[in-house]
Amino acid sequence: MAAETFFITVDGVEIEATEGQTVMEACDEAGIYIPRLCMHDDLKPAGHCRLCTCKINKRYISACTMPVARNMEVENNTPELNADRRTLLDMLFVEGNHFCPSCEKSGSCDLQALGYRLGLVTPQLPYQWPDRQVVATHPDIFIDHNRCILCGLCVRAAKALDGKTIFAFEGRGIQKHLITGGKERLDETTLASADKAAHVCPVGAIVIKRTAYQTPQGKRPYDHTPIGADIEARHASPKG
Ligand code: SF4
Repeated sequence: MAAETFFITVDGVEIEATEGQTVMEACDEAGIYIPRLCMHDDLKPAGHCRLCTCKINKRYISACTMPVARNMEVENNTPELNADRRTLLDMLFVEGNHFCPSCEKSGSCDLQALGYRLGLVTPQLPYQWPDRQVVATHPDIFIDHNRCILCGLCVRAAKALDGKTIFAFEGRGIQKHLITGGKERLDETTLASADKAAHVCPVGAIVIKRTAYQTPQGKRPYDHTPIGADIEARHASPKG
């Protein structure tokens, strides 16, 4: 039996949704971009980063995990929600050490691109300057913990897509950090450069060695096109 379709309203625009979809999936199909940092097409949504929080039937809920329902009313691109998202981004920037101009990922970094898209030019919160490590023991991969935003994508990709337990989190709050599966050194794990976990990082925290500058700066995905433009181009004019 075909899944039931119905309409939901997003920022006052009626779009078609299919039973079983999440709000984010329905919006993606309709060409409406909802900001996100912890989503990957091959992984189940986890609602970790909270960037996709929308006001859904007047309650704040992550759009990546919320199933659609008939007559649902979603607020997404509002000054209030975007201000909250800027604050979340601000916290991510100041809780790590992000030096965009010298980062290998500049121009293809989702954090940087979302900052530009949402108008966060300079962090407003005080920098924390945490003492974090760069781990370069693996022959093909390095991890720069200064740039890790704790999105969990590498943890989930290793388990769900590579069938390995490589990464985990330790600590809470500002002390929370990524660890490597009980091993002290990255090269003692079974992580391989071909693993999905080595390629899902939305920022420049996990980098494959000797590949960083293959695409020159100025020719990277977000150098000319804002993050989310691919989704917005899917359907130029949503119904409504
Ligand atoms: Fe996310 Fe990258 Fe940190 Fe893993 S290393 S948690 S993918 S930011």
